[in-house]
Amino acid sequence: MNTSTSKLSSLQPEQLAAWAKEAINRSKSGQVPAYVPLLAEADREWFAVQIQAIDGEILSWGSIDRTFPLMSAVKPFVLLYLLCELGEKTVFDGVGCDASELAFNSLTQLEIDRGKPRNPMINSGAIALASLIPGNNAAARCQNLRTWLNQQANSQLFVDELMLDSVNQKRNQNNRDLALAMVKSGYLQNSEIALETYNQVCCLSGTVEDLAKLGMVLVNSGESLWENCRTVKALMATCGLYEASGRFALRVGLPAKSGVSGALLAVIPGEGAIGCYSPPLDREGNSVGGLFLLEQIAKNLRLSVFD
Ligand code: GLN
Repeated sequence: MNTSTSKLSSLQPEQLAAWAKEAINRSKSGQVPAYVPLLAEADREWFAVQIQAIDGEILSWGSIDRTFPLMSAVKPFVLLYLLCELGEKTVFDGVGCDASELAFNSLTQLEIDRGKPRNPMINSGAIALASLIPGNNAAARCQNLRTWLNQQANSQLFVDELMLDSVNQKRNQNNRDLALAMVKSGYLQNSEIALETYNQVCCLSGTVEDLAKLGMVLVNSGESLWENCRTVKALMATCGLYEASGRFALRVGLPAKSGVSGALLAVIPGEGAIGCYSPPLDREGNSVGGLFLLEQIAKNLRLSVFD
């Protein structure tokens, strides 16, 4: 007998398909990023979603076999890994936990904060945290994170080497300036290894299934992880969509994290996780189609944590 209690499992495939198609339509107003050549090649109509409910039900739509780099959607999991490996004190000595009001790669934000990264969900914070990942070099650090995440989530994340080449092809002066400013302020020791590690972990790639499975780690957190998972979910809710996080709380009301690839993860505490991929982005760098779909799902199924 199915004793399903998940609100998510009441979602009908036809309904999901209809919302997804409308999401593709809406995403036409977005832009694919130009600063990583391979991301710029993404087809604007690519779309995939996987919804995983806590009772095991899975619903998906679109190109679910397509892989994409997590980019900033990896940031909550860098944070989780380090909270587990190094503890809260070390992590939050190096990075703040307040919401940001400027763009995810803003040097001005870092300067306002006198060189301390405002939170782990923006580039400065993630670059600072990347420098704390154990390992002798960037590849070893990324490998350590990858192995741990795949174990926790039962996912199949891999480093997309072509994407990494593409990221390295055009020097990202902005991220470099952030790193140098943090070396100056004492929040970073070695800018090179921090940036290299950051670029590698951003190129950890997988499918929407992998993304949803990562989200489930935050939902199913066992006894040893629940406190760290709560911290990560709280920071996703307040900072995960950068300066749009407050607006998103009203519109959707779920802990979420976006990436510049068009990845978007939402976590529904006690219910499940939604992994979505749709490349066109809005002004803040969040997936237009992904946000639309999440809004439909959350409103219609009353999934907001504030409902
Ligand atoms: N690697 C990307 C960058 O540094 C990640 C940023 C993002 O996904 N928002 O620009």
